[in-house]
Amino acid sequence: MSDDCLFCKIVAGEVPADKVYEDEQVVVFKDINPKARVHLLVIPRIHLASLEELEPEHDELTGQMIRLLPKLAREQGLEQGFRTVINTGKGGGQIIFHLHIHLLGGSELRVF
Ligand code: AMP
Ligand code: ZN
Repeated sequence: MSDDCLFCKIVAGEVPADKVYEDEQVVVFKDINPKARVHLLVIPRIHLASLEELEPEHDELTGQMIRLLPKLAREQGLEQGFRTVINTGKGGGQIIFHLHIHLLGGSELRVF
């Protein structure tokens, strides 16, 4: 846990969030400022600032996070598909420095 990390506080239950899924390794909650009808954030319970901090020991964790995505999408009714985004570093538009995967869908998404 990083003391001044908002997402660590959500994991610890110190900051409220609209959680839709959690297990021993992962927590999933609704983005507070959704960019699509469905906009979830998938985060590890442990504090990792970004993709830059991933080591081989995190392969199982990241594999679980990725395999969870289509299940969550189905549960949210995204039969037509979904988008995932991972912003990394200031240059990548990362604002919260606790690794997270955006899961988006259910609205027209701009193609880029
Ligand atoms: P990023 O730019 O990839 O770091 O995205 C951070 C995301 O966290 C943004 O989409 C924010 O809307 C979202 N966010 C910030 N604070 C909260 C919060 N308290 N609960 C849920 N989502 C949040
Ligand atoms: Zn954190």
